[in-house]
Amino acid sequence: MASQEIEALSAALARLPGLGPRSARRAVLWLIKRRETSLVQLIEALGAVREGLVECATCGNVDTTNPCGICADPRRDARSICVVEEVADLWALDRARLFTGRYHVLGGKLSALEGVRPEDLAIAPLIARVSAGGIDEVVLAMNATLEGQTTAHYIAERLEGLPVRLTQLAHGLPVGGELDYLDEGTLAQALRARRPVG
Ligand SMILES: [Zn+2]
Repeated sequence: MASQEIEALSAALARLPGLGPRSARRAVLWLIKRRETSLVQLIEALGAVREGLVECATCGNVDTTNPCGICADPRRDARSICVVEEVADLWALDRARLFTGRYHVLGGKLSALEGVRPEDLAIAPLIARVSAGGIDEVVLAMNATLEGQTTAHYIAERLEGLPVRLTQLAHGLPVGGELDYLDEGTLAQALRARRPVG
């Protein structure tokens, strides 16, 4: 019986990004040894996430409120939107504490290989947000990967003709670099030196 439960937990953990079957089994054994401390903390944290977190209907951020804390914060500049691939990128950029505007999470990137089309991403809601007016600048903060840049190019085309300044993160980001992995100083620099698209 016990091994069945261990197998089920190992299989669930092995599906997490960055974990394979081997490290998942090690994590399970580690948790079993700490069932009254770390395992309880993990269960409680997972429960809190399940109960308490929602997706912001405006920007796609994950928070305890909808609209999220960033969209609801009157001190943040509603005229400037920074477009990112994933929530992790939003969090990374916000940790750099340089961008004072709001965000828009696409939920991925265009990929012919993985069959991700524009309609699979939150691109139409972005166009609608910008078309509604009141926005001066859209910062395209896709990862410096081929797919990230293809996505940025597509969005730039779709926003053409709308009265908005399009900028992108400064080059100097490592090629193939994902925002989530960059230190805050590098991100802050890329934001500070952002330049017009095209
Ligand atoms: Zn939001």
